[in-house]
Amino acid sequence: MRNPMFVFDDKMADLVFGYCRERLALDPVPLDYGGYATPLREVLEGVISPEGNDPARVLELFAERLATAVISPDSPRFVSFIPAAPTKASLLFDMVVSSSSMHGTSWLESAGAVSAENQVLRVLAGLAGLPETAGGCFVSGGSAANLSALMVARDTAGHRGHDAERPKIACSEEAHSSVAKALRVLGIEPFVVASVDHRLTGDSLEAALSEGRTGAADVVGVVATAGTTNAGLVDDLAGVAAVAARRRLWFHVDGAYGGGALFAPSVRPLFAGIEHADSLVVDPHKWLFAPYDCAALLYRHPALAKAVHTQDAAYLDIIHEALQTGAGPAGAREEPAAPGAGGPGGAEEPWNPTDYAYHLSRRARGLPLWFSLAVHGTNAYREAVETVLDTTRQVAALVEETPYTELVRQPTLSIILFRRRSWCRAHYDAWSAQLLSDQVAFVTPTTWEGEPAARIALLHPDTDIEVAREILATMA
Ligand SMILES: *Cc1c(COP(=O)(O)O)cnc(C)c1O
Repeated sequence: MRNPMFVFDDKMADLVFGYCRERLALDPVPLDYGGYATPLREVLEGVISPEGNDPARVLELFAERLATAVISPDSPRFVSFIPAAPTKASLLFDMVVSSSSMHGTSWLESAGAVSAENQVLRVLAGLAGLPETAGGCFVSGGSAANLSALMVARDTAGHRGHDAERPKIACSEEAHSSVAKALRVLGIEPFVVASVDHRLTGDSLEAALSEGRTGAADVVGVVATAGTTNAGLVDDLAGVAAVAARRRLWFHVDGAYGGGALFAPSVRPLFAGIEHADSLVVDPHKWLFAPYDCAALLYRHPALAKAVHTQDAAYLDIIHEALQTGAGPAGAREEPAAPGAGGPGGAEEPWNPTDYAYHLSRRARGLPLWFSLAVHGTNAYREAVETVLDTTRQVAALVEETPYTELVRQPTLSIILFRRRSWCRAHYDAWSAQLLSDQVAFVTPTTWEGEPAARIALLHPDTDIEVAREILATMA
């Protein structure tokens, strides 16, 4: 007799597909309650048992008690941290990827999935102005991408002529916390450069490197942020790139949040210089409307990343090969053929995503975005991002018009920092909790220059000025 776990069960399929259909059709998605919900331990008591349960009962428990204890990042009323706004097409296709247990580890096993993922990576590389030969892979998030890229920055330092025994990576204090964490994992000390009005600039980097500070000579790379998570600011990418080129530093651009705005002509000039990146991170699960978990990691010279990340013993040999073929910042332009869906002249170069980050097995997590981009076209993405930017400008104007609120600064991308006059932290905290409890919005306070502030992060094209109006009204 066959093990029943592996036999298709019509009834269970109807149940689960029915749930998915209902969830996908919710308009709008409810905000729900997260950790503010009732204690969950009793809810789960005894659910996993030797005998198992009726799937209907388990699904009901999930739907009524667990799903409601997760604040929906894709609700248009989720405006804290970084929201999510996956397209319906991407969510539907995520089910296809799951139903196919489709992995994307190597070309040998997964060429079809990998070629489609690489097609998306090429779109992103094109938007950034990276060369045709740029390539990489999708990883679980910006954190994993930063870690993987900075590992390449470290391990190729010698290749760029550095001989630091204890290499350092420069970044500003505004860099995302995952950068500090990645450096800790890698045993690299950060070389912190003071920002200028919260932005890392080429001048501040150059000054810090040339003023004889301890460790300046050990700096082998620099991290710039294209869209800081707290305020949405874009570093002086062109200036930093110039210093990096002069000093042969690896130039890593963290666009986990802001990279989606590469689609938007209205803010594209802010990203000037991004085309010089040695590595670039863009999280489609943030501003490219894809489901979790999905981060695009691109390298200007993929051969270098491959040499570092390939999981076989020939580690250093391969770096050597990369050197000889001139693939690398210090070398000539000659590169192995571009990744994916037919290289130049239609030649299909094998491409193993596993070789471009620290992972081995991986889900083909780029496919939901691929499907959505293929279905809707890039114009629809441009419009969706521009809509969000336009709403941001409207919300900023509303904050300025409202007598009891003031902008902390004009927004750069889609994050609005503002204050309610005369409020202290306790006011903001109580207000935030009340708004969630009333299901008006999930909006959490932040800190700016040592003072509490309110923060609205926009990302869902359906979050309109009316939602902001409601939120501001609760501060009166
Ligand atoms: C969100 C974010 C990260 C981390 O990305 P995850 O996908 O959450 O791992 C890194 N850098 C920046 C700038 C971010 O906004």
